[in-house]
Amino acid sequence: MPPETDAQLLRVAIIGAGPAAFYAADHLLKSRADDISVDMFDRLPTPFGLVRAGVAPDHQKIKTVTKNFTAIGSDPRFRFFGNVQFGRDITIEDIRANYHKVLFATGAQSDRRMGIPGEDLRGSHPATEFVAWYNGHPDFRHCAFDLSQERVVIVGVGNVAVDVARILCLTPNELAATDMPSYAIEALSRSKVREVHLLGRRGPAQAAFTTPELKELGELEDTDLVIDPAEAALDPLSVEAMAHSTDRMLARKVDLIQASAGRIPQGRRRRLFLRFFVAPAELVGDESGNVKCVRLAVNRLKRTETGTLVTEVTGETEAIAAGLVFRSVGYRGVPLPGVPFNERMGVILNAGGRVLDPDTQTPLPGMYVAGWIKRGPSGVIGTNKPDSVETVERMFEDACVCQMLKPVNVDREAIVKLLERRGARPVSFAEWLQLDRLECAAGTAAGRPRAKFTSVVEMLAALV
Ligand code: NAP
Repeated sequence: MPPETDAQLLRVAIIGAGPAAFYAADHLLKSRADDISVDMFDRLPTPFGLVRAGVAPDHQKIKTVTKNFTAIGSDPRFRFFGNVQFGRDITIEDIRANYHKVLFATGAQSDRRMGIPGEDLRGSHPATEFVAWYNGHPDFRHCAFDLSQERVVIVGVGNVAVDVARILCLTPNELAATDMPSYAIEALSRSKVREVHLLGRRGPAQAAFTTPELKELGELEDTDLVIDPAEAALDPLSVEAMAHSTDRMLARKVDLIQASAGRIPQGRRRRLFLRFFVAPAELVGDESGNVKCVRLAVNRLKRTETGTLVTEVTGETEAIAAGLVFRSVGYRGVPLPGVPFNERMGVILNAGGRVLDPDTQTPLPGMYVAGWIKRGPSGVIGTNKPDSVETVERMFEDACVCQMLKPVNVDREAIVKLLERRGARPVSFAEWLQLDRLECAAGTAAGRPRAKFTSVVEMLAALV
């Protein structure tokens, strides 16, 4: 029997609408009957977080995970409040007054820094900004990147670095098959970039990218992948580490790196250099403050007392003349107003998904966290499923012993009225579906998977 009043509902707020948020909503709704209500808030009118604004626009298959998320949107126990920012339109006090439980799933919205001289020169950018720009994130659509440069350096060899390198190498033909906004397609089609240098500070056996992503770099339409066989060779410490590794994919990845290193360049328009054992020591600028060169330190590996292989400089140096540099050395979480934060880790202070009181290190009743803002920026989209399930299980355990917030409002509509009083303009899931249909229709007309709205004003205008 459905509950007769809102007072009988377990009311849960989720802040953020990326994969971790949807996996959590899914587990909450699947585990309970009609006695639960889940409200999801996102600062953008559009849901799906990094699936929309982070997953590469030429990886459309990965984006199909949104089909499962969309099914959640039609559940009457679920409401989406897009275009509502936590800390501006709703506060932690509002949450306490209206919900029994809150789950933060805001991801990692900033980037890590390299901490070297010249990092802030013009022409040196966080990769995260470029990713958000080519994915049409409204906050980044006006970013500018000097694609008249012939040589680009990307620092880091994680999957984000690989995405950025690949996107820089796509031909107009390859770009046309993506859901990139037209401003990005036009800019990248006119790009003068001829060389992309991806810099790994450790060796092939420590590269953070995954094998399918590396394979794609060797399959680009008009780009030669270039790897120096000497840098692809394993040093004795890596050989030993690999012999003890439980990572079944590692040997395949190293094999592929070494096989690619033997390939003869085919004289294609662009060359993508995948480097190992080099790290930037300094970005050097010209008299106008533009980056003109990356000074590199050549590294070797050493083993720490805990057995980790880290870098030490050999004393050898090198320089690459480049006018465009992307640092792709990891994302970083951003603190939320009124929510305890672990500065060192860049995550919300938590244990297994329960938010902790910074003074006592004990759980704060009713407050939870999932996804990158819980564990840090690691793993693929699917990694968030078990992560969110773990947190939701903690929520249910705590609910059994009445560990929750004590909302004064029992009416489910109270939050709607509050947002109205604040002058917010929430976008519902049904409205998002309307935007989705418009984007897909515009994409079809242009022969592409989707033509995204890239401005909040345009999105809201399309809804009236
Ligand atoms: P990541 O996987 O952590 O890679 C970061 C890279 O930066 C590593 O190569 C790291 O080297 C390097 N690095 C860190 N600090 C550095 C420094 N100071 N100087 C030079 N290099 C430095 O991070 P990410 O690429 O941002 O990806 C985040 C997560 O999203 C990952 O789990 C990734 O797999 C996932 N992702 C997946 C896909 C996909 O499935 N297609 C696409 C994009 C992202 P060390 O290893 O030496 O620290």
